[in-house]
Parts: sequence; C-alpha cells; structure tokens
Amino acid sequence: MNLDMQDKVILISGGAAGIGAAIAAASAREGAIPVIIDRNEAAARSFAETLRAEGLRCEIVLLDLKTPDDCRLAAEDALRLHGKIDALVNNAGVNDGVGLEHGNPERFLQSVNANLMHYYALAHYTLPALKLTKGSIVNIASKVALTGQGNTSGYAAAKGATLALTREWAVELLPLGIRVNAVIPAEVMTPLYRQWIATFPEPNEKLKSIERSIPLEHRLTTPEEIASTVVFLLSPRSSHTTGQFLHVDGGYVHLDRTL
Ligand code: NAP
Repeated sequence: MNLDMQDKVILISGGAAGIGAAIAAASAREGAIPVIIDRNEAAARSFAETLRAEGLRCEIVLLDLKTPDDCRLAAEDALRLHGKIDALVNNAGVNDGVGLEHGNPERFLQSVNANLMHYYALAHYTLPALKLTKGSIVNIASKVALTGQGNTSGYAAAKGATLALTREWAVELLPLGIRVNAVIPAEVMTPLYRQWIATFPEPNEKLKSIERSIPLEHRLTTPEEIASTVVFLLSPRSSHTTGQFLHVDGGYVHLDRTL
C-alpha cells in the first residue's frame, strides 16, 4: 500500500529516542520529512545522523517543551524549516511516579504539566499551519489511563486527559477536515522503559513476568509496531478515521492475561 506520505512534514515531540524515533524513521522511510522536537541533544544529533546516513531526510528542533513559549518557538521553528506542517505527533512524556500517598500536590501539578501542557500547546500553535494542509494529529497516550498502574497519579491524569482531548479536538476540528486520533501503547522497550525496569530489585525477572502477561506472543510491543500504526493514521489511507483510540499492545488491555 502506498501511504502517500511523500514530502509531508511531520512534527514529532520526543522524536529523538524510543517510540518517537521509531515514528520519525518510519515516516522518513515513507518519503516524509520528520521534524524532531527533543531536549536530548546527544540523542537527537546521533539519531539524525543515522537517518541521514540511510539517505533519509529529517530535521531537529532542540527544545525542552517546558513552557507554552517553548512550544510556540518549537512550532514556529518547525514551520520555518519547510514552510508547512502536515501532521503533529504529540509523543514526549515521562512516567515520573508521582503517587497519591508518596507525592504532593505541587509535584502532581508538575507531572501533569510535563506530560500534558505541551500536547495542547503544540496542537494550538501548529493549528494555523495544519488548517492550510488539512493535516492530522496523533496523540500518544498510555494504557495507564485505562488500567491504572499505582503510584503515578500525575502521569495517569495527563494520559487520561490525552484521550479526552483526542475526542474533543476531533470534534472541534471536524469542520476543518483535520483528523485527530490516539495510539495507546502498553509495554514497549525504549530508553524510558529500560530505566523503569532497572528500578526493580530483579529487573530481568520483572521483565519476564511482564512478558508472560502480554496475551499475543508473550513479548513486548516494539517501537516499530507503534510507529507503523501512527504513520498509517497520519496518512491519507486512514482518511475517514478520526476521534479513535488504537491499542497497539498485543491485547494487553482488552484480552484475558492468564493464558
Ligand atoms: P523515551 O524513551 O524517554 O523517549 C522520549 C524522548 O522524548 C526522549 O528523547 C526524551 O528526552 C524526550 N522528551 C521527554 N520530555 C520532553 C520534553 N518535555 N521536551 C522535549 N523532549 C522531551 O520515551 P518512550 O518510552 O519512547 O515514550 C514515548 C511516549 O510513549 C510517552 O508519551 C510515553 O508516555 C508513551 N508510552 C510509552 C510506553 C512504553 O512502554 N515505553 C508505554 C505507554 C506509553 P530525555 O532523554 O531527555 O528524557
């Protein structure tokens, strides 16, 4: 299937590593131009070099999306690069473990800010450009929004709000023909996930027990499997899909986990 992504400019927050990097690579292989917005300079530069060595195109905007102004600058810098924006992937996020008992309201607000504010702000500041291209948006959420995890209230609140905003924006942007969908990963091996697993006393045992609980093939989802779904959703091949939540998780959220 030709996804018809040639020369499409795709902004990807947190695109230098993990799931975001896989989305950048997959869209570049379809002929698109990923614009990676990331705070991790070393990861962004080395990833961009790898893509360019393969003959693929990509751009980097180095910014920590901490404030609305950072997001405005990111959107403006990205637009300046190629004069248009065809799609936005809101992906940057950190499962930062701010719990109910072992957190406090200030840290809760910081966590919500770090995981949610830039989703809204990037959508807001790229909207004028997306209107011109009839672009599309994919928000990366998390199974934590639906299953809980324990000890991560801020992240859970932000990811729940991400799903609510996906529906809300899908409705608001219907008259403009801009589609908005969410992809919901569960367990995906990325730098962030590796750090989290390392916090357990027996990381390998913990990883094996998680793998056993994933219904399809008892393995983690790969970043590339998330990326394929995201690129399909961004592409004109999914032109009548909007306001949807797609679980790419080997059945983790919906299927019996005891088999
Ligand atoms: P990752 O391995 O940490 O990669 C994310 C990248 O985004 C990193 O380069 C990170 O930089 C950057 N980043 C984070 N916050 C940023 C900010 N405020 N401004 C600019 N760059 C920022 O993460 P991942 O596991 O691929 O996760 C990507 C998304 O998937 C997140 O929204 C996460 O919640 C979601 N998700 C992941 C899983 C999973 O199993 N991995 C499951 C469910 C949902 P640093 O290196 O400096 O942090």
